[in-house]
Amino acid sequence: MSKELIIPVFIPHLGCEHRCVFCNQRKISGQATIPTLEEIRSQVGEYRKSCSNLNEREVHLAFYGGSFTGISEKMQEDYLSFALALKKQGLIAKIRLSTRADYIDAKIIARLKSYQVDIVELGVQSMDEEVLKLSKRGHTAADVEKAAELIKQAGITLGLQMMIALPGDTPEKSLATAKKIIALKPALVRIYPTAIIKDTELAELWQKGSYEPWDWDILLDTAAQIALLFQKNNILIIRIGLQAADNLNLGKDLLGGAYHPALGELVKGRIMRMKMEETLKNLPSNQAYRVLCAPKMLSQVKGQKNCNVLYFAQKYAQRLYIEAAEGINAPDIQIKPMI
Ligand code: SF4
Repeated sequence: MSKELIIPVFIPHLGCEHRCVFCNQRKISGQATIPTLEEIRSQVGEYRKSCSNLNEREVHLAFYGGSFTGISEKMQEDYLSFALALKKQGLIAKIRLSTRADYIDAKIIARLKSYQVDIVELGVQSMDEEVLKLSKRGHTAADVEKAAELIKQAGITLGLQMMIALPGDTPEKSLATAKKIIALKPALVRIYPTAIIKDTELAELWQKGSYEPWDWDILLDTAAQIALLFQKNNILIIRIGLQAADNLNLGKDLLGGAYHPALGELVKGRIMRMKMEETLKNLPSNQAYRVLCAPKMLSQVKGQKNCNVLYFAQKYAQRLYIEAAEGINAPDIQIKPMI
C-alpha cells in the first residue's frame, strides 16, 4: 500500500473556547462554514474519483481545524457515526482527527474507540510552560503527557504537533520540546514554524514590536535539528510548515513570520547541509569535492538555488560538484576529493 490519501474536513474554530495568539482557524483553513454530512460525502466521492491510483492508497477521513473533541457530543457523534458508516462501506479505511490535550479524558477516549477512530493528533505546540502561557494555549505540558498516555493505552495511533518560534520560544526550548515529544513515543509528528496570520493576537503583538519572528537561518537550523531528532527516533514526520493555500500569501491573510510554501523542502535541504558539514568540516579547505547522491536527492543536496554549494564555498572555501549517481541509496551521500 502506498501513501495515504487524506481527505481533510476542516471544522473551523468549532468547539474551541480558546484563542491561541497565533490562531485564526477560519483563516488557516480558508473556510468559515461548518461542513454538512452531505458535503463530506461528496468530498469523499470527489477525492476518490480524482485519485489515479486509488487501489494503492489507504483512504483516511480527517477532521482537522478545530478541536474536534471539544464540539458538542451530538455533533461529534453525528460526524463520527457518518465516518464509521463510510468506513463500513469501504469508502474510507481510517478515521483521524485533531484536538487539544485538555479535551481528552477517559469518557472521550471511550467515544472515539466506539466509533473506531484510528489516529488522534494533539496540538502540543510547546512543552515549555512559559511558551504555552505566552501563547495563551490554556493547557500545560502535563495535560499533553496525560492525554498522550490515554490515547496510546486505548490503542489509538498518536500524532503530536509542535510549533517553533512561538512567543517566548528559543531554539533551545524548541529542541527541548522535541525531546519531550520523543519521550511520549508518538507514531507521527508535524512541525509548524510560526506564521503570522491576520486577525490574530500574534499579528497585534508583531505590529506593536512585542513579537519578533526568528531569523530564517536560525529557524531552518532549529527545524532541521528537530527533524533529525525525530528521524533518528523513527518518528514519522508528516508535515513541516503550514499547507500552501491561496489565502496564505503575503498581502492576503499572511502577514509574515515563518511561512514559505516549500518550507519542508528548505528544511530537508538544511538537513543535507548538516550531514555534509559533519564530513566536510574535517576535510581540507581550498579543495574541490564530488558529492554523489541518489538522483531523487539532487535538489535537496544542492539546496534551494544552490545555497548549500554557496555555503561551503563561503565558509570553508570548498568547491562542491554535486552529482546524481545510480547505486547510491537515498538519503546516503558519498564525498570524494576531486583529483
Ligand atoms: S486550541 Fe486550536 S483551534 Fe483553538 S485557538 Fe488554539 S490553535 Fe486555534
